[in-house]
Amino acid sequence: MGLSLGIDFGTSGARAIAIDSSKNIVAEVHYPFTNANFQDWQKALFYLLDNLGDSVRSELKSIAINGTSSTVLLCDNWGNPLSEAILYNDGRGIGFLEAIKAIAPPHHPVIIATSSLAKLLWWSEQEIFSQARYFLSQADWLAFLLHGKLGISDYHNALKLGYDLENLCYPDWLENLPMFNLLPQIFAPGTAIDTIKPDLVTRFAIPKDCLIYTGTTDSIAAFLASGANSLGDAVTSLGSTLVLKLLSSQKVDDSNYGIYSHRLGNLWLTGGASNTGGAVLKKFFSDQELRNYSLAIDGQKESNLDYYPLLKAGERFPINDPFLPVKLTPQPDNPREFLHGLLESIARIEALGYQRLQELGANKLERVYSAGGGAKNSTWRIIRQRHLGVPVLLSKQEQAAYGTALLAQQSVTLLK
Ligand code: ADP
Repeated sequence: MGLSLGIDFGTSGARAIAIDSSKNIVAEVHYPFTNANFQDWQKALFYLLDNLGDSVRSELKSIAINGTSSTVLLCDNWGNPLSEAILYNDGRGIGFLEAIKAIAPPHHPVIIATSSLAKLLWWSEQEIFSQARYFLSQADWLAFLLHGKLGISDYHNALKLGYDLENLCYPDWLENLPMFNLLPQIFAPGTAIDTIKPDLVTRFAIPKDCLIYTGTTDSIAAFLASGANSLGDAVTSLGSTLVLKLLSSQKVDDSNYGIYSHRLGNLWLTGGASNTGGAVLKKFFSDQELRNYSLAIDGQKESNLDYYPLLKAGERFPINDPFLPVKLTPQPDNPREFLHGLLESIARIEALGYQRLQELGANKLERVYSAGGGAKNSTWRIIRQRHLGVPVLLSKQEQAAYGTALLAQQSVTLLK
């Protein structure tokens, strides 16, 4: 039997979920943080292990960790970070975009200021760089704390580094870089790397044959948790922003729209992120108002209000226009009608997003799972179903840590 542990390092905290062989959750621990860096992550990791409970720890047979995509560290020969990690949304690499464009294929996902590669190039001009031996993602470094092996990553965390997901190797244009020797060896997500380090066996009373597996990124872990598992399945995340993911047999990449594809076994997880979403709803309504007004809206009826809800001008996906204006007029006096217009407009943008992915070659949309703060809004589900024309369901499990526990358990069939 034995239990599998998934650990999620997200933007607002870390969470551990242990599951049994029937995929039931047997323990869950949360550690909130904001603006955390590697010292906090290490503290969080050990806090989570500490608080799982003796009986859970004593039955652990596998562990995997997911991090936020493109949160990266530069380490010395012993895995000590040489400076603070550069976080997922840090755009300091903007000055290296032209250099990246000159070597990477057109429309490649590394051609953005926040890509892991842009961050590596930025570091290459800093003084500490001469001491660097390993360039790692957050998930790689945290897994290293458990198994003690350096220079190991997975092909989800390596996407924005430029790893060739079709041929499963580093492309020539990366191998030719002078800092290529710092890059990790890449495995499939959910590959067993080694047993847990002996000092942790002693400290936490975890079985010494507990295996540590390669991890993934937080958004893929949430996709794995949702229950989506066949071609045409999609997950829409209705959080602060609107994020779409559609499982396809065809790879789709277009950096103009911020569209890229992750590999999942022999399939591709295509996706894009819009700047519209819950953050705009939150600007006008409290969560309670959202709930109450939504219940009073007839989702079967179309609102004629046609907005492009954004916090500020500019959009990438599904419309690529850095100056796209915020459109929130006309604003009716009745707040319920205004909310109806907002929900309807975001649903139109979601439908346009899936249309865009399909136009670029992704498989036909068959069903959509919903995650994030807006997923529980059943009126919105009815509105979205009208625009999407396919069944709209709730994700089976929401937490990325659950998806990563499935990865540790080796029960993600798509990866087999
Ligand atoms: P984050 O992307 O910040 O992790 P969450 O997944 O926690 O976001 O979702 C938070 C968002 O969900 C908020 O922006 C809020 O406006 C939205 N939200 C909360 N309740 C509802 C609701 N009943 N209907 C629609 N949206 C909601």
